[in-house]
Amino acid sequence: MSSPGGTYRNMAAMRILVAEDDASIRELLVHHLARDGFIPIEAPDGPTALRLSRGGADLVVLDIGLPGLDGLDITRTLRREGRTTPVVMLTARAEEVDRIVGLELGADDYVVKPFSPREVVARVRAILRRSGLKHDPGPQVLRFGRLEIDDSAREVRVDGVDIGLKPREYALLHALAENVAVAMSRDTLLERVWGYDFDGDERTVDVHVRRLRMKLEEQHGLPACIQTLHGFGYKFSPA
Ligand code: CA
Repeated sequence: MSSPGGTYRNMAAMRILVAEDDASIRELLVHHLARDGFIPIEAPDGPTALRLSRGGADLVVLDIGLPGLDGLDITRTLRREGRTTPVVMLTARAEEVDRIVGLELGADDYVVKPFSPREVVARVRAILRRSGLKHDPGPQVLRFGRLEIDDSAREVRVDGVDIGLKPREYALLHALAENVAVAMSRDTLLERVWGYDFDGDERTVDVHVRRLRMKLEEQHGLPACIQTLHGFGYKFSPA
């Protein structure tokens, strides 16, 4: 089912939002998605799910029964806003109406609980492959001197050579570089890159910034581009 490298290469490091209020199901899916090289982002309730869906998830695995705002409302809102982000619905109710309504609203697929996480990951892959064939967004490359951030290949290159960032390092650098000269709080970065704030451990962001600086500046001799804003967060300021 899962093929290493080859066909699925461009799917690596895709940001998959897992919107599910049942923590054990959410963690199971997050675990399997991460193991397959995706970047899982987590939302435990409807409003968070909607915010993070708008914030650049590549695909949303969306539980129908979410507190605050249900999965159907979220899908309806996203489609009304013209967003085409693929949605895989999770439902505990096997009734036909849920399936049809979900798909009519613009969900791309659905899985009925209880499901195997492998099945969900397989659906995610199938939909990404399908939507990748449907609309190729073309090259999306951010360039800052010798540094290139290629969002279609999910690659960071220095002088044209991939420097092999880990998925979260990539996602963090991309989140910063998309917002040149914008002060971004640790909270915002945590949410963009990891999903909702697990235990509020903002040091995770600091650790990853340190690794990025090591790879970009020390290993590849780039000028400093990530500025620390003490007591707040970080800012991308390329030389
Ligand atoms: Ca639920």
